[in-house]
Amino acid sequence: MSLGDLRMPSNRYDVIVVGGGPAGVSAAKSSALTGAKTLLIERNQLIAALKPCGQAISKKTLETAGVKPVQGLVINEVSARVYAPNGRSVKIGETGYMINKTILLQEIAAQAAEHGAEIHVGEAFIDLKRRNGEVLVKTSRGEYSASIVIGADGYNSRVARNLGVQEKSEPIPTLQYLIAGCKPEAVDEIRIYLGNDLAPKGYAWMFPVSERIVEVGIGVRGAPLKPYMDKFIRKFGCELDGQIIDNRGAPVPVGGLISKYIFDGAILIGDAAGMVIPLTGGGIHSSIASGLAAGEVAGKASQEGDTSEKRLLEFNEKYKPWIDRIRKSLKALRILEELSDEDLNELAEVLEDRDIVDIANGLNVARVARKLMAHPRLAIKLAKPLLRS
Ligand SMILES: Cc1cc2nc3c(=O)[nH]c(=O)nc-3n(C[C@H](O)[C@H](O)[C@H](O)COP(=O)(O)OP(=O)(O)OC[C@H]3O[C@@H](n4cnc5c(N)ncnc54)[C@H](O)[C@@H]3O)c2cc1C
Repeated sequence: MSLGDLRMPSNRYDVIVVGGGPAGVSAAKSSALTGAKTLLIERNQLIAALKPCGQAISKKTLETAGVKPVQGLVINEVSARVYAPNGRSVKIGETGYMINKTILLQEIAAQAAEHGAEIHVGEAFIDLKRRNGEVLVKTSRGEYSASIVIGADGYNSRVARNLGVQEKSEPIPTLQYLIAGCKPEAVDEIRIYLGNDLAPKGYAWMFPVSERIVEVGIGVRGAPLKPYMDKFIRKFGCELDGQIIDNRGAPVPVGGLISKYIFDGAILIGDAAGMVIPLTGGGIHSSIASGLAAGEVAGKASQEGDTSEKRLLEFNEKYKPWIDRIRKSLKALRILEELSDEDLNELAEVLEDRDIVDIANGLNVARVARKLMAHPRLAIKLAKPLLRS
């Protein structure tokens, strides 16, 4: 037993991270890296991607996570193709990965452990109380105290509720099937389908996992999911003719950041705070980035002895590029969701792959908007609103 152990009771931590998804494992890693005594609790019995997820990521996601694209983690290197309602498609040249998300989470958790984080699986957060600058945390297995709690417990965050947060980022309900024994046209291409007939105010996707297994998903707002899913599957006939071996859904927060996610002694990150790119619904990269930023800020602040909301606002500086991307992508979503199928078809004629990637991810939006100014209808419906700050 070290002197440090003698001074510090074993149930006292600098930082407690709740949730072992992309945001939580990343937060535990970066908090531990600062030297802070860090505990990660995950309610499931294992660190794994048990929530449904398309598992498609950009290559940069692994760079941000500090994880190598090793075999087993990467299922396939894939390009993407986006389909307009009339069937015209645009191939996105930049390739990304279909991954085994469980392995990604476990890799980051391994790094967190190597840096000294304690990880408890099968332990659920129950509630917290803030008292005299400390946070008292009750879980299904015990009670702890900490300087700071990071709530990375997903869309239905219990940490958020305990902090008195009523607001939730607007969700898009999704449904995803894993279809086995089917015949996807290509395993190295993921496909995304737009159109009000197909997926009103959302999109449908087909992400091949192997030559015989495909993830098929749909996100729709303001209408029931199942009939649209059935219709989407029928559209592809024998290509998707197989057996459904996984049938689950989950909300994706696409309404942007909630207004308050930093408190005295607490930060909410990832889906719990609406940190998803609204137009794509992609949240793995932005959640990992939020975890890395929050863990670093919390780790340092706890050791400095200042865990005030004011001190923790440093998170916003570190996460600013993502805050901007989420805001711009949300703006594009709000405009695009009002477009007719005819408008979307015209858009597919005009936009090149780089433009689609940029606008979806909230990057260089002004450049794309200026390009659309040359097309009278799109200028009014899309470009001008995009350029308005
Ligand atoms: C159908 C679907 C498809 C998607 N496809 C993609 C995609 O292809 N690419 C992409 O980038 N994004 C995708 N996303 C979004 C992505 O999955 C999420 O944005 C991302 O996982 C959010 O990470 P997180 O760590 O914030 O939350 P989560 O991944 O939800 O993790 C939260 C963790 O907290 C744990 N937890 C919850 N409550 C407690 C508690 N009380 N105590 C302890 N632990 C708790 C949970 O068990 C879980 O492990 C998809 C989402 C859905 C629903």
